[in-house]
Amino acid sequence: MAGNTYANMLAALDNAAAKLGLREEEYSFLRTPEREVKGSFPVKMDDGHTEIFEGYRIQHSSMRGPCKGGIRFHPETDEDEVKSLAAWMSFKCAVANIPYGGGKGGVTVDPAKLSKAELERLTRAYVKLITPVIGPKQDIPAPDVNTNAQIMGWIVDEYSKLTGEFTPAVVTGKPLSLGGSLGRPAATGRGILFTAREMYKRLGKSLKGATVAVQGFGNVGSVAAQLLYREGCKVVGISYAFGALYCEDGLNIDEIISTGYQADLTGYNAEGVKHITNEELLTLSVDILVPAALENAITEKNVDTINAGLIVEGANGPINAAADAVLQEKGITVVPDILANSGGVIVSYFEWVQDLQCYFWSEEEVNSKLERQISEAFAAVYNTAKENNVPMRIGAYMVAVARIVEAAKLRGYVG
Ligand code: GLU
Repeated sequence: MAGNTYANMLAALDNAAAKLGLREEEYSFLRTPEREVKGSFPVKMDDGHTEIFEGYRIQHSSMRGPCKGGIRFHPETDEDEVKSLAAWMSFKCAVANIPYGGGKGGVTVDPAKLSKAELERLTRAYVKLITPVIGPKQDIPAPDVNTNAQIMGWIVDEYSKLTGEFTPAVVTGKPLSLGGSLGRPAATGRGILFTAREMYKRLGKSLKGATVAVQGFGNVGSVAAQLLYREGCKVVGISYAFGALYCEDGLNIDEIISTGYQADLTGYNAEGVKHITNEELLTLSVDILVPAALENAITEKNVDTINAGLIVEGANGPINAAADAVLQEKGITVVPDILANSGGVIVSYFEWVQDLQCYFWSEEEVNSKLERQISEAFAAVYNTAKENNVPMRIGAYMVAVARIVEAAKLRGYVG
């Protein structure tokens, strides 16, 4: 993945640690991952030839509990990216105050080029690579970019076969019939709604009538756009892989989703709707911008064109450190990824708890517990940022680092 995302993570970590008054030896264990598994594995393709793929599982920290974090299938996935994503998971779980550390996995592959059978074989081969280091009490994967409930189902099956025990709690984001949780597919997008609402409450404003642009119309972006639309926001722009839609009077998100063409909206037409580019989407003058695609969407190259009042980070790492500094100067508030998109991992935690109890909750119960958990996380971050006069990203890192270092002290690792 282009851009040095790990350096961005370190910049925020060092900044937060300095604000907390930590000595380097008290938090330096967070600068490097605990364990990195990297390997290659062969996969037989449908036409009979064999291809070699590279995969990773990187465990950043298990100080507060088992590692937790998704698995990404993407052609540009590399070690730097997975390392950064793993670290962000440790901070995200600490901010959310759920009993996990952080990890992340990835396979360098374009899954759009694979048949379903090839995707299944690749997933199973990857599970063989990581089985020695995952487990319900060690490290619990989940979906991320280009992975979904079906892939999690194959992971449950392969892991259960390899270990000889049916183990749904080894992974979250599963299909319901394999121990998944109600509310999990929409949880990250729902968390975006909750954090945007909490921010607006603090500003003394209501979301009704607020203009919104959402970059990315996948699992996070489409749900966030839909829930914000249903909350009364005017969603004027959404983008997908090849372009974006714009409508001054607001797009009908329910209708767009009902077309079933979420991945490619090139053919979508409705009154007042214009097709614009992905780059133009980011420059729209809106109250709220939700970058919900990949990391480094906003960098020093395009930050000057950003025209939003508030940015709520749906993706992990969509703003690099240089752009962050410019946004701060301009007075644009950013609700950071490790808070804003934590709804997914919070409901993953609920799924894991349900699996371990073999007792399942209603969707209302899941959603209301999510709202409570993420609102508490929001308050902790917001208050820390206010008290220390720092941006919310640094406030979030301060909350996270303080909690992880406290665990490290109690476990006897530092002073
Ligand atoms: N991939 C999601 C994230 O980045 C969810 C992780 C999880 O549920 O473990 O937060």
